[in-house]
Amino acid sequence: MHTIPVTSIKGIGPVKGRVLQEEAGIVTVEDLLYYAPRRYLDRSSIKRIIDTFAENEVTVAGTIVSVKIVPARRRMLRVEITDGTDTLAGIFFAGLSFFEKIFVPGEFILFSGVIKVFRGKQIVHPDFDFLDDNSEYKSINTGRIIPLYRSSETLRKSGFDSRGFRRLIRSALDLYREMITDPLDSNILKKYNMLPLKQAISGIHYPDTFEHIEKCRIRLAFNEVFFMQYYMAVSRIIISNRASKPSTGFDTGLLKAFIAELSFDLTGDQQKALEEITEDLRSTVPMNRLLQGDVGTGKTVIALASALIPVSAGRQAAIMVPTEILASQHYITALKLLPPSVKCELLSGSMKKKEKDKVYASLSTGETHIVIGTHALIQSGLKFRDLAYIIIDEQHRFGVEQRAKLRSKGEDTDLLVMTATPIPRSLSMTLYADMDVSYLRQKPLNRNIIETLSFPESRIKGIYNSISRYISQGRQVFYVLPLIEESEKVDLKSAEETYVTLKENVFPQHRTALIHGRLPQNQKDEIMDLFRKGDIDILVSTTVIEVGIDIPNANVMVIHHAERFGLAQIHQLRGRVGRGEHKSFCILIHPDNISIEAQERIRILTENSDGFSISELDLKIRGSGQLVGTKQHGLSDFEFTDLARDMDIIKSAKKEVDQIIKKHPPINSETGKIDNPHISEFMKGLRSKRILEILS
Ligand code: ADP
Ligand code: MG
Repeated sequence: MHTIPVTSIKGIGPVKGRVLQEEAGIVTVEDLLYYAPRRYLDRSSIKRIIDTFAENEVTVAGTIVSVKIVPARRRMLRVEITDGTDTLAGIFFAGLSFFEKIFVPGEFILFSGVIKVFRGKQIVHPDFDFLDDNSEYKSINTGRIIPLYRSSETLRKSGFDSRGFRRLIRSALDLYREMITDPLDSNILKKYNMLPLKQAISGIHYPDTFEHIEKCRIRLAFNEVFFMQYYMAVSRIIISNRASKPSTGFDTGLLKAFIAELSFDLTGDQQKALEEITEDLRSTVPMNRLLQGDVGTGKTVIALASALIPVSAGRQAAIMVPTEILASQHYITALKLLPPSVKCELLSGSMKKKEKDKVYASLSTGETHIVIGTHALIQSGLKFRDLAYIIIDEQHRFGVEQRAKLRSKGEDTDLLVMTATPIPRSLSMTLYADMDVSYLRQKPLNRNIIETLSFPESRIKGIYNSISRYISQGRQVFYVLPLIEESEKVDLKSAEETYVTLKENVFPQHRTALIHGRLPQNQKDEIMDLFRKGDIDILVSTTVIEVGIDIPNANVMVIHHAERFGLAQIHQLRGRVGRGEHKSFCILIHPDNISIEAQERIRILTENSDGFSISELDLKIRGSGQLVGTKQHGLSDFEFTDLARDMDIIKSAKKEVDQIIKKHPPINSETGKIDNPHISEFMKGLRSKRILEILS
């Protein structure tokens, strides 16, 4: 199934296939079957409209009765629905022409959101999902559970809203269900009382009860962690089996000079991490290390410093980061800090072909010592003369495959991955069992604590006044607005509107700019440059600035609609300030009425400044009705596993992995390659078989 393209399903041509790939990462039938519902609805989770009251957060279902553009002071679209008990209107202020087209009277629809009462019941910008004809709508009332899938505007336009996914997955199951084989021995299934894979996959899309969903989820989670750990165990064996790295000599001259030139002293943790890394670089076993440090603990400098070790030996290093903005920033830092004898280049997807060719050439001749880049670094045409060392920043943004691809550009390369998403130690020992870990806990001494405050929207005037006050003191401000995938265009539109309001009405005396992910790269760079130079006072942005940006003079981070962000995400965002000598603030703005859970989440942020505790609390408070794994929280690649609840699964999977490895050693000790026939048999049907192909 991992080789059958989704385009083999009737109705999915190359165009739709491309949309599925680009927007949802779905290429094969297998990808599709593993596309997890984001939540489920049943009768008990849908309220009768008559039973809803102002400020309730609810889901209602009904038939669309009318769709009208209302020429009020602010033009809006009113989509009225009825469920027979009462009527309710979905109100849209942005994206009117798009929404006007997709809502058709007579369709059955779900609306979720907070009820307002204003000339009748309404929900502003509700989350919505279409239900299939009368039967799906009715079947909810007879006890069926309906899965809802993640979608985006582009997906919706191609027909892949929740309903579209339900239809597509139904076809895929009808066609291919019988081909799902179980990689796990029936003894293991029995031992842990788990469902066969085939049943778990169908059940996750077509469950009978919520208990059934949980059983399916557990089986799929077991698969995930089992395979992950199997992969790690095998790669650990491969690494320790390898012939030793080329011995290149070990010169710390450049490194020492680099540290002496820094305008600050390294923290104790930084020194320790650097020692651990240089020790690995010196050793003849390839390094496989994770550098875990909360945001702002100073990882970049460690990356650059350590890259000087292979460079001294005439070899090359590559630093891969997830965004172009971050690549440019690291590149600027590198140019500032590295001695002129070390040649460093930038490589990103948006560069002109001519510039890229130049970098390609200088990497293949070895003229360039250090390259900093985005995914552009893993393009197949790119060759290094002698790549010795790879550093991956914000590693959770990359998949295992991407890491492996970059690694394959050198031989027995040393690997350092860095992450600012702290996870509890017990977890990191399981998740990263194939790695050694260095921790950065101390923040540099010059750091001030970031004071985090939260306010309802009704207090916005006061916030504007404070912002002006900081700017008049010479400081700069980030003003972040949410952009969520469900309705990106709408969000972007409202970000643009907010920007215009701030610029023209609220802060006409200040210099305000807007940056977001859809801007062309050169414009983004230009804006970041101006901000870095202090020529912009207020940078309004969507979450493009989430990872890595470092601008010490900016000391205020305003986050609008804080209730719509994840905790880890806000913690990352607020790590953008508190980097200079000035007292810093993070201001969380939320609507006047938010759910109790949202209040609790915001409270956690105002009361905790340590990423490790936040990630623990975050895992704890998440509702258990949710299926999603930790993927959306940036903690791991897992789709079904919930790291907070599934410690037992992780442990059992580890036990089984250890036994299987003992029974069937995966590696031929002579060739160092995977050639045990049991393995390929065993891997059949496993989701991430591709990884094994890379490994071997
Ligand atoms: P992160 O760990 O979040 O990637 P960065 O590497 O971006 O953090 O570092 C944040 C800022 O702290 C940078 O401006 C960097 O120059 C500075 N910095 C790093 N180490 C120290 C230190 N030991 N003392 C003072 N400032 C430091
Ligand atoms: Mg960083």
